[in-house]
Amino acid sequence: MTSAYFLARAGHDVTVVERNAGVGLETSYANGGQLSYSYVAPLAGPGVLPKVPPWLLKRDAPLRFSPRLDYYQWRFCIEFVLACTTAQSELTTSRLLRLAFYSRALMHDMVAKEPLDFDYVRNGKLVFYSDAASFRGAQATLDYQRSLGCEQQALDRDGCVALEPALAHIAPEIAGGIYTPSEDAGDCYRFCTSLERVMRGGANPVQFEFNTQVTGFAHAAGRIHAAKTDRHDIEADSFVVTLGAQSVFLLRPIGIDAPIYPLKGYSLTLPIADAKAAPFVSITDHKRKVVYARLGEELRVAGMADITNYRADLDPARIEVLARQVRETFPASADFSRLKPWCGLRPATPKGTPVIGRTRYANLLLNVGHGALGFTLACGCGKIMADLASGRNAEISLDGLTLA
Ligand SMILES: Cc1cc2nc3c(=O)[nH]c(=O)nc-3n(C[C@H](O)[C@H](O)[C@H](O)COP(=O)(O)OP(=O)(O)OC[C@H]3O[C@@H](n4cnc5c(N)ncnc54)[C@H](O)[C@@H]3O)c2cc1C
Repeated sequence: MTSAYFLARAGHDVTVVERNAGVGLETSYANGGQLSYSYVAPLAGPGVLPKVPPWLLKRDAPLRFSPRLDYYQWRFCIEFVLACTTAQSELTTSRLLRLAFYSRALMHDMVAKEPLDFDYVRNGKLVFYSDAASFRGAQATLDYQRSLGCEQQALDRDGCVALEPALAHIAPEIAGGIYTPSEDAGDCYRFCTSLERVMRGGANPVQFEFNTQVTGFAHAAGRIHAAKTDRHDIEADSFVVTLGAQSVFLLRPIGIDAPIYPLKGYSLTLPIADAKAAPFVSITDHKRKVVYARLGEELRVAGMADITNYRADLDPARIEVLARQVRETFPASADFSRLKPWCGLRPATPKGTPVIGRTRYANLLLNVGHGALGFTLACGCGKIMADLASGRNAEISLDGLTLA
């Protein structure tokens, strides 16, 4: 959607081709809602590998692996393990921060200019730690994060509760937290539908072809001529692939191997029952890897990463675990009888960097593989698509963000 927005603003005639009956109905539907510009460190880090074996043995672990006879699943896992070094993790973090800060500036500009309605708040984010060792580890990285441009401060237990009184209930379990005032939150689905409304108006309206599945590309002499769909062929000067985790099924047949595998995650959306018992600040429970965002009158809770397959089917056991964790953390916050469960497929890459930019086809661009940061990085990646399609260079370096 942001690719379409920036392409149209750059003067291109744009058509969005979508297999569903509307926009934002897949992974962007009920994600964590975090515009997490400073928290971009990849899952693949030096601390994660020792945690994996105990996680695999626990039913309520944040990570679950269901091995399959699938080359791409095993390749993802092996490349993920290889990426779990301090050097790679720091390199990925610096690349993602560059893109995230660029995205933040563009999001702030877009929110100021366009009549978007998506429960957007600039409320900051508090990551709280349950054990002293993890908190000390987080404090130790503060200087590094600051050197990369993140404004963050460490808070002790009382500081965490003073900032977010809804945490008082679990104060004894909090060792400390890191607060980042410059993080935002919003409802990603309503961002998409708002953007659609904006794009349908104005001097250069975007066209939408819904219920249309792209099935392949017609190409010759290093150029794409048409996107083939289950309804008709669509010709264009340029094509941008933004199909989330499904992108690989269109790219592999034309010889493009983007290292994307789905990491299934879950969310709950709950009506807030007691305004004071639900957090105002976006919260991350570091131990459980669960994020909380207040979106208008609702609380959005998201977490977990299942390495299973390409099906976004709900697992009631995972929903139960997530619901229990919310009950324990913010017990009076929400009406649990009206809980809306959801799951989606993060289009993840082993290193955690998206795959954006040019391909071996002169007029085919990729905007895929944003993993757990697709909402956060959306504006920057969309603007980059528009600049490249217009024959310009991107405004930031794409080093490490393109196809290898
Ligand atoms: C539980 C969970 C929590 C998350 N929390 C956050 C968060 O807090 N902050 C954040 O920044 N990110 C978060 N993410 C990640 C974020 O949601 C994704 O990175 C982002 O939604 C990916 O957007 P996308 O446009 O690439 O993919 P999608 O939103 O999946 O869009 C791809 C679209 O392509 C369409 N499509 C696919 N194949 C075809 C085809 N062949 N023909 C036509 N149309 C097709 C699909 O229908 C879909 O609409 C979370 C993800 C999950 C699962």
